[in-house]
Amino acid sequence: MKPRDCPDCATAMRPIKVLDATHTATGSSPSAHFELAYAAPDAERSFFMRAIKQEGTLRAMLCPDCGRALLYAIPGA
Ligand SMILES: [Zn+2]
Repeated sequence: MKPRDCPDCATAMRPIKVLDATHTATGSSPSAHFELAYAAPDAERSFFMRAIKQEGTLRAMLCPDCGRALLYAIPGA
């Protein structure tokens, strides 16, 4: 992914990893082992897989100057 500039202050943004507190490796602290993902708003949980059909993953970028964070969808990833 090409580096992008912050839409607010035009500083070069850097990739960050969002820690998902709903999936924990130890049961207590946030884990970085899960990628953020997204699905269609009407996606239903599969009866057999007990998982929601995932359309892609989300990549997070952070502006180190003003602190703005953005999410970019990566379909099929
Ligand atoms: Zn900024």
